[in-house]
Amino acid sequence: HASIAVHYCKVSGRNNKLFYTPDMNDIYNDVLLLEGDIRKALYHDEFELFYQPQINVENGEVIGLEALIRWNHPKKGNIPPSKFIPVAEESGLINQIGKWVINEACMQHVEWVNQGHDPIRIAVNISAIELQQFDFADQVTRIIEETKMDPTYLEIEITENSVMQNTEDCIRTMNTLRDMGVSLSIDDFGTGYSSFGYLRKFPINYLKIDQSFIRNALSEPSDAEIVKAMIQLGHTFGLKVVAEGVEEQNILALLREQKCDYYQGYFFSKPVPACDLESVVYGKMS
Ligand code: C2E
Ligand code: MG
Ligand code: MG
Ligand code: MG
Repeated sequence: HASIAVHYCKVSGRNNKLFYTPDMNDIYNDVLLLEGDIRKALYHDEFELFYQPQINVENGEVIGLEALIRWNHPKKGNIPPSKFIPVAEESGLINQIGKWVINEACMQHVEWVNQGHDPIRIAVNISAIELQQFDFADQVTRIIEETKMDPTYLEIEITENSVMQNTEDCIRTMNTLRDMGVSLSIDDFGTGYSSFGYLRKFPINYLKIDQSFIRNALSEPSDAEIVKAMIQLGHTFGLKVVAEGVEEQNILALLREQKCDYYQGYFFSKPVPACDLESVVYGKMS
């Protein structure tokens, strides 16, 4: 689906007949329709956050949550983020989505704490475009003040590629967030333009190993080696390492052996709505 965004770029950006085919016309129209729908969705509050627990590999405790956006479209049903996030990025609507996501996650956090639950870290996903807004850190500050969220429980996930453009500005933003107590993680580690140099330069706390490596680690010895190397690399830089996409018990043995810190995946729980989380997380904890 990311390719839709690329086609859209070509069609809209260049306005060039050479790129124009009936097939692309369809894609272009789909993207435009979707863009209009995203605007309406923001207005009509059609988005929702689901939460997936992160577990301590060693003792099985829930140590955090990742917030993942869901869109229940009134006519088309559930539209996955892989389909609409690229369109939102192309159109700039991602900035509004991002603000909504951070605000919603913070409000939810405060609500849980007010209900008497022990506070737990919540991670939100941020697109490159959001991080590159000059006032991104200010926006986060404002949301934290408005919701009265304790910033030390907020985590922001970014991908490797997001920091590769305007690196200096991004590092400044990241440092401001870190100074506020917000933690930062590199998502989908291993799939971008990985360069080990930035691990030293960026003020990050967590490395999240992409699920493609985790999924194949049991069947592909080379992927198992890559996972081991990534865990060691993270630890060398003083980071906590999270394995994404753990679906089976067997992979846990490998993660335990390699001293991976945390994991996430269907094996423990799929992402669930806030109302179901109480039994999944808080129920299991107490
Ligand atoms: P991600 O941040 O890497 O999130 C992990 C994805 O893997 C999620 O898909 C999650 O539901 C899925 N997942 C978790 N455990 C397992 C497992 O054991 N097996 C398998 N097969 N999948 C698992 P989802 O929710 O469809 O999100 C896809 C991507 O969309 C995310 O990847 C993230 O890049 C983006 N995304 C999601 N929510 C947001 C958001 O609020 N803002 C932005 N900018 N991007 C978002
Ligand atoms: Mg709501
Ligand atoms: Mg993520
Ligand atoms: Mg990921």
